[in-house]
Amino acid sequence: MRSEYRDIEPNELGWTEDGHAHIVWSDGHVSTYAPATLRKICPCAECRGTHGTPPKAFTILTPKQLQSAPKQIVVERVEPVGNYAIAFTWGDGHREGIYTWALLREECPCEACGLRRQVDAEGRA
Ligand SMILES: [Zn+2]
Ligand SMILES: [Zn+2]
Repeated sequence: MRSEYRDIEPNELGWTEDGHAHIVWSDGHVSTYAPATLRKICPCAECRGTHGTPPKAFTILTPKQLQSAPKQIVVERVEPVGNYAIAFTWGDGHREGIYTWALLREECPCEACGLRRQVDAEGRA
């Protein structure tokens, strides 16, 4: 976890018309997450245990496919956890993951953050 994200929090948190979570961060960065992405990065022990195996359910879906998406990538509820995280309840009943702001920011799927992660990974190699 990058320590520089520790003090960053969302100024705005909402959903786009096509059902993606949308966060505007206190440093001005904007992140948009497909529900499948959010489920994929679920930080609970159960999901972390399965990471490393090929992500079958998480192929990239078109908006049309999303309407008939498997239950596990349908967000039913979003609840705040203190003032540091949110928790999703998924269509299949899964709700163990606590998504801290730092986690969400770390996993931002935008191009700039993708490049940054790539550089980090090379730096560690
Ligand atoms: Zn989980
Ligand atoms: Zn980003």
